Amino acid sequence: MTSANFILAINVFVAALLAASFMVLAAGGARRTAAHWLAFSYMLGIGYLLIEFSIPVFRDAHLPVTVAFAVFLAATIAFNVGLAHNYNLRQHWQLMLFFLAAATFVVYLVQDQPRQALTRMMAYQLPYAAMQAVALAIVWSSKKRPGALDRLLMVVLALSVLQFASKPFLAHALGGWGANPQSYLQSSYAMVSQTMGTIFTLAIALLMLGILVRDALAEATFKSEADALSRLLNRGGFQAHAGLALRTARKQGIPVSLVLADLDHFKTINDSFGHASGDRVIEAFAGFLRGTVTHHHIVGRIGGEEFAILLPGTNLTSARLFAEGIRSAFSALPIEGLPKTHRCTASFGAAELQLEEGLADLMRRADEALYGAKKAGRDQVRVSGGPLSLVQPPAEPPGWNFNGKG
Ligand code: GH3
Ligand code: MG
Ligand code: MG
Repeated sequence: MTSANFILAINVFVAALLAASFMVLAAGGARRTAAHWLAFSYMLGIGYLLIEFSIPVFRDAHLPVTVAFAVFLAATIAFNVGLAHNYNLRQHWQLMLFFLAAATFVVYLVQDQPRQALTRMMAYQLPYAAMQAVALAIVWSSKKRPGALDRLLMVVLALSVLQFASKPFLAHALGGWGANPQSYLQSSYAMVSQTMGTIFTLAIALLMLGILVRDALAEATFKSEADALSRLLNRGGFQAHAGLALRTARKQGIPVSLVLADLDHFKTINDSFGHASGDRVIEAFAGFLRGTVTHHHIVGRIGGEEFAILLPGTNLTSARLFAEGIRSAFSALPIEGLPKTHRCTASFGAAELQLEEGLADLMRRADEALYGAKKAGRDQVRVSGGPLSLVQPPAEPPGWNFNGKG
């Protein structure tokens, strides 16, 4: 067995392992479509290597050489399809298939040229370089913010483009790629080329595995923190994000307030109009919140018809005004599926984070303020004065009660 043959054999195992890894990832339901395409790409890679192995047994190598080229190019295309899926980009099918057919046709034509001719070598290598450049463009043009892995992948893909484009010159420098296709595997160029191929294949595949696992984890975390009905954070998600925001605000020395909201007489809405209509009200309130908050606010549905909004950089006075704005606007909002004249309301409790307090204390005080708003007649905002003056008694002077009804 020649050295190049040996490396080729190793490559078959490496490609099989990579295909299996992507299949396992797909079977786990993570980034399924992207992982399937990547697995398919490495299976095509195995196909290419097996054809390459068998070329020495053919008397006329025209056809197997052309097929090997086409299969490997198809592998790079399948890789790009998987990549585009992972980065949520459109795949240009017709264009890629046309490119595959055209490049294969050209390679078939150039086989009558002298074996070491530059145009012949370029016909082999440039399509591969082009497909790696497309891969680079896919990662580059992704709307996702690139992380360290994406940046590293771009660097490796750029090097891979250079690698393919420089292969004809490398072949010349190393004394050519064999007198005929059958003796390619005996050339020193074949050994260098196959070794570089292994290194790039491994680097790109490992980076891709890392990116897929990273994105799958992010997707799973996102799903586990999301509430399907309201499309807000669920209780756990809210607590996780709010806890983080509290710590950041504390470090920066800025105030943080929490507003809790609970829909009024929600049971009656369910009983009068049905559970589905109740759900519409939850959706409407959640949609209203989403439209009101800015990106640094954290909003969650923390119970059946209970919502929480954490407001970093907001003191109690501003939080109270914020809650008041939501209260008055929501109480005027007609809701789809409910009688035209029917209006829903919500009650609010607000509290500002005090020194030494944690999220649980803040939530408890806001909840007590909310309870005060319910007790005082609903459709109003109540605030917690601080750890000691927990909730204002119902006979609080006017000004505490911001229900806008005087
Ligand atoms: P209050 O003004 O005191 O808040 O009265 P309420 O009726 O809103 O409060 P209560 O806690 O008695 O009832 C809440 C109701 O919310 C009971 C439950 O059936 C309903 N609920 C909880 N989750 C959902 C949901 O996802 N969809 C619908 N439609 N109803 C829900
Ligand atoms: Mg309620
Ligand atoms: Mg409730």
